[in-house]
Amino acid sequence: MEVILQNLTKKFPGRDRRKKKDIIAVSDFSFRIPDGKLIGLLGPSGCGKSTTLNLISGLVKPTAGRIFFGEDDVTDLPPEHRGIGLVFQNYALYPHLTVMQNILFPLQNLKGRDRLTKAEMAEKAREAAGLVQIEELLDRKPGELSGGQQQRVAIARALVKRPKVLLLDEPLSNLDARLRLQTREEIRRIQRETGITTIFVTHDQEEAMSISDMIVVMKEGIVQQIGRPQEVYDNPANLFVARFLGTPPVNVFDGKIRDGRLYIGAEAVLEGLEVFADPMPEEVCVAVRPEGFRLRENGVLSCELSGVEVMGRDISVVSRNKFSLNPQIRSIISTENQPDFESHVVRFDLIPRKVFVFRRDTEERIG
Ligand code: ATP
Repeated sequence: MEVILQNLTKKFPGRDRRKKKDIIAVSDFSFRIPDGKLIGLLGPSGCGKSTTLNLISGLVKPTAGRIFFGEDDVTDLPPEHRGIGLVFQNYALYPHLTVMQNILFPLQNLKGRDRLTKAEMAEKAREAAGLVQIEELLDRKPGELSGGQQQRVAIARALVKRPKVLLLDEPLSNLDARLRLQTREEIRRIQRETGITTIFVTHDQEEAMSISDMIVVMKEGIVQQIGRPQEVYDNPANLFVARFLGTPPVNVFDGKIRDGRLYIGAEAVLEGLEVFADPMPEEVCVAVRPEGFRLRENGVLSCELSGVEVMGRDISVVSRNKFSLNPQIRSIISTENQPDFESHVVRFDLIPRKVFVFRRDTEERIG
């Protein structure tokens, strides 16, 4: 099912009524979500991710804008008539019911032509349990399950009515690191198997990047960028997006542009720079991905070596530079190319496609 968001806006009344200042949780959000895709809604706490999901589910009414599921305008429909499956961070299972009864629950109140016989309900519940591989747990109560198993039950319950759209709000945040990894792969597999359009909220960029067909990066209610994860990583629209994606994070420097050359301090670090700005600002921010550094004896950027962390296949070289806006510069280098540990200075060349240039004032990308 295609989901179309048209100029969606949600304002909440501000806490200080006298000032009459609304909180704009979501601002003028338009996006045509393609059928059958997994979309990751991503951003820091308070950026409006959950509100966007709640607008799509119908739990929250928009202040302005419309929502379509395919051809149908669902903006004024209550959640139960939208054909959605919802999964929350805290699973929201009924503790006194068995796993089977929890999964059956959404089928029990179907009315009219949608009503099912007991046998039909049981079959659908078993099918949903099979999808998330919990058939052997059907007689247990939620209290007798691990966090990961409870999350699977919540997903089975959301899938049992074969929703048109599956909405997941931080579904992995109560799981430990290993289970998170496993469960996110699981969500991807289930989504591929069912082909249900799925929208997934997370503040964890790695999680969103690893399983989404497309990501939406939000900040303060405003969509910053939409695209395929690799596309957004390789072409961030602004400094916020560049900083938000990637571990270790991008390294940011104060830079200058003069005669088509990019400088960090007195060192010209890139020649023949393509910058899209008119007039061209002189002072800029330069961001370099950790994998954008090459150790070279005569490299263009000199930094003070402060440490090396071995990470198996690669090493992380930690260094400092007066013009760096991060307290430390982190570069990822292959183990074959170790720095000279005796020396206090390391020199790098920069890989042009891993270097981004931003305006200092608006933080917009210009090169
Ligand atoms: P988190 O990751 O912390 O859940 P989020 O990105 O999901 O954050 P939202 O929960 O959508 O963000 O909140 C966006 C903004 O709207 C925040 O400033 C929040 O305080 C505000 N907000 C959300 N719900 C309400 C509400 N019911 N009443 C008033 N303000 C609200």
